[in-house]
Amino acid sequence: MVSAEIRKTAFGVTASGDAVEIYTLTNANGLEARIMTYGATLVSLRVPDRQGKLADVVLGYDALDGYLKNSPYFGAIVGRYGNRIGKGQFSLNGKEYSLPKNNGENTLHGGIKGFDKVIWKASEVKRKNGVGLRLSYLSKDGEEGFPGNLSTTVIYTLTDNNELKIDYSATTDKSTVVNLTHHSYFNLAGEGSILNHELMIAARRFTPVDSGLIPTGELRSVNGTPMDFTKSTAIGARIDQQDEQLAFGKGYDHNWALNNNTGRLALAARVYEPGSGRVMEVATTEPGLQFYSGNFLDGGITGKGGQVYKQRYGFCLETQHFPDSPNKPRFPSTVLRPGQRYKSTTIYRFSVR
Ligand code: BGC
Repeated sequence: MVSAEIRKTAFGVTASGDAVEIYTLTNANGLEARIMTYGATLVSLRVPDRQGKLADVVLGYDALDGYLKNSPYFGAIVGRYGNRIGKGQFSLNGKEYSLPKNNGENTLHGGIKGFDKVIWKASEVKRKNGVGLRLSYLSKDGEEGFPGNLSTTVIYTLTDNNELKIDYSATTDKSTVVNLTHHSYFNLAGEGSILNHELMIAARRFTPVDSGLIPTGELRSVNGTPMDFTKSTAIGARIDQQDEQLAFGKGYDHNWALNNNTGRLALAARVYEPGSGRVMEVATTEPGLQFYSGNFLDGGITGKGGQVYKQRYGFCLETQHFPDSPNKPRFPSTVLRPGQRYKSTTIYRFSVR
């Protein structure tokens, strides 16, 4: 057994001349996570298969340039508001806020320049059972239309239990809305289609959407629908069924209302890839999980090692509050007020079967 370690190297420079660093975290079992300061992005994650062979299980680019030019949020931290806000508008304390619309008539993933496109300040943190990297970013009052100076911290820890743990926290000086998430596209085989991956989601209900992928406000039972992942099922088993929700998303692109809404950490999902034997479990304190089956990947991106990312070659499991919560008073609130602290934890745990 080797001991966990962290290394820092230069990863390039943005168009405006800012230096970007990348940190390599290695745990005692040889798992390796590389995280860069641009977007607080997980650039690669090498985990073993059932023979102990490591493969990179997240999509992305070999170099910074790809991320700067064209990235569908590969591995990034998404904020200030992950997923959509309908019509780019919400009101808070009687005031109307207008956000830039970057997804049809809606705002997606924090706007035009969200947390995925800014440089975070990084420092190493001591962890009992692994190695940690703290990333912080101050989002100014009015940035992308949101009120309040939001001071945000994300700590990635690679533990010796083969977990990538993400702890989020934020404070504000004016009431605002916050919904942070992590946007890795996973492929537990390391390449190819994800349709054979078997998925379980610990949710009896999901939030159906309209054609612009904005929740209608309903919480609908998954029972008898292609959204039912209460029992482990191949992602591809029902993805092409005739179903209005699947048609709107071009596949899965929905928020599941997790059974656990206590705010305490609980298992949200488990994914198994039969070829490699890799298993990934997702535990979170959040009430929602966006399962996105990579429907908008279309072969137009050539990523790491020359891989062409075709439709459904990666999937995201984004732990979150529900989309469009600022306009849905019956959804769990995403409002953060001065004096309060936003806190959220998600763990991606790797093993084999
Ligand atoms: C959204 C998708 C979107 C993708 C990449 C996901 O979180 O739900 O609709 O295409 O992110 O932008």
